[in-house]
Amino acid sequence: MVEFDKCVRCGSCLKICPIFEVIGEEQYSPRGKLYLLQIMDMIENDKELGKEFRRLLFQCTLCGRCSETCSSDVDLLKVWHEQRGKAIHEAPEEFAYLDALRDALSEVKNIYGLDPEDRAVFWMDELEDEFPNLEEHVYSEGKTAEVMVFLGCLMSFRGSQIDVVRGLISSLEKEGVDYLLMGAEEFCCGHPLYLTGDDAGAKQLRDHNRDVIHKAKAKTVVTCCPGCLIQLSKYHELGDVEALHHTQFFDRLLKTTPKTKRSEEFAYHDPCELHRILGIKKEPRSLLNKMKVNFREMDLACCGGGGLLRMTDPNLSDKVIQLRKAKERIQDTTVVTACPSCREQLLSAGSKTVDIIELLAEALEDEQ
Ligand code: SF4
Ligand code: SF4
Repeated sequence: MVEFDKCVRCGSCLKICPIFEVIGEEQYSPRGKLYLLQIMDMIENDKELGKEFRRLLFQCTLCGRCSETCSSDVDLLKVWHEQRGKAIHEAPEEFAYLDALRDALSEVKNIYGLDPEDRAVFWMDELEDEFPNLEEHVYSEGKTAEVMVFLGCLMSFRGSQIDVVRGLISSLEKEGVDYLLMGAEEFCCGHPLYLTGDDAGAKQLRDHNRDVIHKAKAKTVVTCCPGCLIQLSKYHELGDVEALHHTQFFDRLLKTTPKTKRSEEFAYHDPCELHRILGIKKEPRSLLNKMKVNFREMDLACCGGGGLLRMTDPNLSDKVIQLRKAKERIQDTTVVTACPSCREQLLSAGSKTVDIIELLAEALEDEQ
């Protein structure tokens, strides 16, 4: 039996889908899309139906909540991944809006189309006064270290992420970690291409990163980005090199941490790719508890920024985060999270947000 035929249309996946929650129409729900897929399997050559299905496939954050909920064990994430790849192959003209992304990744290896050399320019300029030896920690041929830091495109290029980069470097320095940042030698991890179903394109990027990580003789790769971590841990084929989220790395390194000086109540937003797809649930909370951070849990729901939705349908992506913001009553609360992409979503919705690593860096700083 093909995977999508296992659906018994029970409807359990409707109320938890962030897209269905916002739009409220069956065809946007996981069940509705699987139904269209089943029909198309029976009625061939319905061009309009095929087009509609391909559009709906990219109105999804790939949050994985449908897969987690499905009582019939339909691996919906696998279905969405395979069908996205098929859709782009069958009707490339319908996805011309993704050409700029694909061209940028093919030519300059980052999602912004910027000069690859600039990967280490922005945060170097911002942080070199605070960390005078920073340049020594940027990888170039011949340098080796125990830990390789993989910042990813968002954290390398976006000014809104500089506090997270600072927190990461500060924490590594305070704990005397032997580390390098990949800098200009870092290529995109391949996640955006993977999300379009383009496994071959993603592989080319990963192959380069793997070579650099091996040349640097790193034993561990650390990243703050759950999307990058999916690629590094599942698809880069790093051999003995372990890929870790920053919360895993520091939770393992620090049996105890200093107590935070912040007394306010935070709301913890757990990133979908971190807790649901990678299964990393314990370590972020463990670090927050070690620091005695006062936080409440938010619903384990999507911020609306995943699955390339920010690119494929920004209005829909905005509606998801605005609804979530209203439901969680976080207008006056700082949201603590552990994903640069979720952080961008929260900032775009006007929310105050902080990464766990910023709180850790502050606590370590205050200790001195
Ligand atoms: S992955 Fe998330 S957004 Fe996509 S269909 Fe499933 S629940 Fe909905
Ligand atoms: S939860 Fe699973 S079986 Fe039920 S409607 Fe959704 S996909 Fe089908």
